[in-house]
Amino acid sequence: MPDAKVWAVVKADAYGHGLLNALRAFDAADGLSLVELDRAIALRESGWRKPLMLMEGLFDSAELPLVQQHDLQPVVHSDEQLQMLAGASGARLHVHLKVNTGMNRLGFRPGRVRDVWQRLRAMEVVAGVSLLTHFANAENPQATLTPQVQLQRFLDSTAGLNAELSLSNSAALLMQSQIRCNWTRPGVMLYGGTPGGGSAQSFGLTPAMTLQSELIAVQDLQAGDSVGYGSVFTADRPIRVGVVACGYADGYPRHAPTGTPALVDGVRTRLLGRISMDMLSVDLTPVPAAKVGSRVTLWGDGLPVDEVANAAGTIGYELMCAIAPRVRRETRGA
Ligand SMILES: *Cc1c(COP(=O)(O)O)cnc(C)c1O
Repeated sequence: MPDAKVWAVVKADAYGHGLLNALRAFDAADGLSLVELDRAIALRESGWRKPLMLMEGLFDSAELPLVQQHDLQPVVHSDEQLQMLAGASGARLHVHLKVNTGMNRLGFRPGRVRDVWQRLRAMEVVAGVSLLTHFANAENPQATLTPQVQLQRFLDSTAGLNAELSLSNSAALLMQSQIRCNWTRPGVMLYGGTPGGGSAQSFGLTPAMTLQSELIAVQDLQAGDSVGYGSVFTADRPIRVGVVACGYADGYPRHAPTGTPALVDGVRTRLLGRISMDMLSVDLTPVPAAKVGSRVTLWGDGLPVDEVANAAGTIGYELMCAIAPRVRRETRGA
């Protein structure tokens, strides 16, 4: 969308990538958008001068002075939030009126938008109002609630209001290229993950995050031997098994079953048995030279996070966000 401005979405510690990494990486973005007030303040204190949007707005009126002090732009999605702003004075804020066009999480129903708009515009503390909505199914045009249905509701309910419109998430940007707006709100695609509906490669996305560990033990199993808790994998022939220093306490999904892909020394293989807190096991059959110290890639470079997520019955977003604090982070590039 060549003429649109970009809110780079950095909620949840930049989808697990580290907020300060995102600050550097998204230097060219027009604004950063997140949910957490303390993290928004951290971005200001780290030198971000461009707009910052709080996508769930105020949780409590006690937050208002901080929002004003740091010139943050809250979403207003509820009557409770209108009340927090009504009657307030001091530094004026740009706010974002959220329209509920069918997602039914946050926002005012289309029939209320004009009234809320007028009320916001009349408030002393409000300097300006933008409009936004969020698509439920931009990656799945088969859904009944299509982006087209939501877009029409949004345009109908906001017609004639002189405001910037913010719409497209990653799915809409990648798969609904006919949709136009003033500001886009991509998240997962900026990190090289997909919102579904196609592979990262098909969208030309490369992963920002690679989760790696190494083999800390090798076991030679005989037919009939099993691996790990619950003995849920039993060998039907002699098999070499590698034990990897990575488990659910690192954020690896415990529900990833036998067969979930991983790379050992760059060679694709599969998980065996249950994920433990600190370890998981892999089949070394395709990598006979593997030994203690061999590099293991759980996702990222050479193995799209979406594939691992799919095998584990979840989405790449959840895996990236769940990386645990004890995982050592190394930042590549400068
Ligand atoms: C998380 C979020 C986005 C970004 O979504 P992606 O699917 O990661 O692109 C955009 N808008 C809102 C309101 C969000 O909560």
